[in-house]
Amino acid sequence: MSMDFDDAPRGGKGKAGDRGDKKSGPGGAGGSGMRKRGFTRRKVCRFCADKTLTIDYKDSQLLKYFITDRGKIIPRRISGNCAKHQRKVALSIRRSRMIALMPYTVTGQ
Ligand SMILES: [Zn+2]
Repeated sequence: MSMDFDDAPRGGKGKAGDRGDKKSGPGGAGGSGMRKRGFTRRKVCRFCADKTLTIDYKDSQLLKYFITDRGKIIPRRISGNCAKHQRKVALSIRRSRMIALMPYTVTGQ
C-alpha cells in the first residue's frame, strides 16, 4: 500500500497535480520475485552435514536420491553435494550400476 499521491496537498495553489496521478514508478516495487522453483536446495552437502551417513555403492536406497528418473546422475549444483561427496556418490552409482543395483538409463516403456 504505497499510494503516495493520496496525501498530496489538495486544494492549495492547485499546482499539485499537473498530470493527475503519477504512476508511482515502474511496476510495483518490492522484492524481485523468482522464488526457487521445485527443488529444495540444501545449503550444505548432506554427507557433510550428517557424519553418520556413508556413501556405499551397495546402498541403492541412498544412491537413488542422486539419480534422475531416467537414471542419470544429478549434477552437484542441484543435489547440493560438495565436490568431494558428489564424486563419491557418482563413483558409487557407477559401481552400483556395474552390479546391476542401479540402472544405466531408464528407457521409457
Ligand atoms: Zn560433503
